Amino acid sequence: MRPEIASGLNPEALHLILHPTEQCNFRCTYCYERFDIGRMPPDVIAGIKRLLARRHDLRQLHIGWFGGEPLVALDVIRVLSRAFQTHSELHGIDYSADITTNGYRLTAPVMRELVGFGVSHYQISMDGDKPCHDLTRLRANGEGSFDTIWKNLSDVMGTDLEFKITLRIHYHNDNLDSIDALIDRLVAAFPGDERLELYFKNVSPLGSANDKNFPFVERERRKAVETRFAERVDGRLPVMGGLAGTGYVCYACRPNSLVIRADGTISKCTVALYDDRNMMGRLLPDGTLDLDQSKLQPWIEILLNGTDEGRACPVKCLPQAETTGIAAK
Ligand code: SF4
Repeated sequence: MRPEIASGLNPEALHLILHPTEQCNFRCTYCYERFDIGRMPPDVIAGIKRLLARRHDLRQLHIGWFGGEPLVALDVIRVLSRAFQTHSELHGIDYSADITTNGYRLTAPVMRELVGFGVSHYQISMDGDKPCHDLTRLRANGEGSFDTIWKNLSDVMGTDLEFKITLRIHYHNDNLDSIDALIDRLVAAFPGDERLELYFKNVSPLGSANDKNFPFVERERRKAVETRFAERVDGRLPVMGGLAGTGYVCYACRPNSLVIRADGTISKCTVALYDDRNMMGRLLPDGTLDLDQSKLQPWIEILLNGTDEGRACPVKCLPQAETTGIAAK
């Protein structure tokens, strides 16, 4: 069995993707989230702690902070991170964490605190240099966000902290030249700093109200666009390759990976948040998982008996496809 599949079946490992809030301080023009759930309430926080306490068999725990914008609920991250660290130290569990953030609140002091909580990997998104970024990465008040993200990035890169930042640079047909300018800015500011890696990713139609008119890059052009950017970087910063053809297995089809949304809903995929096939139960306050196995099984079936393409994005292969927009990703 391939190691990527075997690791998803390891009963001693648990990967939890947590939404400390589903509110966000941004309103990106292509965002698919609805922001109809708020902060994680105390009973869900208690349920997560008790879920761990029940897992005496656990040897590896990996937490992914997601949202909404997770740093809007930094206090929830603090409370749970302390519990994860204490529990892991006490029981000899190998603990690690990552966060997906828009970077607006990722100041150097916050980064220092998060690194202290074992958060070692950061995914931050930018949409080009300031003029283009500020057209799509709007704050909730309608203002741009580039200057603050850039300052935060410069400040955290100026520390001696150990971390990895994947800067996910979103491209579409109207920001290609602006991404060239951003690349020039990045290699000038952080030459050869291996804590930063660039990841060029096309914006996809994922169910936003603006999908119809958005200038998405056509599938057949994406490779050429990404090659153009890699050539512009010219080895001066690490560039992460695309996942296609690498045998990547999405966490959504791994039995030992769960999303716990801010209201305690259990899901598998972090994108199809409003698809009924992706809502398979609830975390109860006593830490038990009330799961509908008939909804869970199709995801796991893809891991065990699906194709490589299915394992890379299982939601596309689930029976009874709905109109999530993901099929076009
Ligand atoms: S959209 Fe596909 S690749 Fe992304 S989390 Fe969902 S199933 Fe995984």
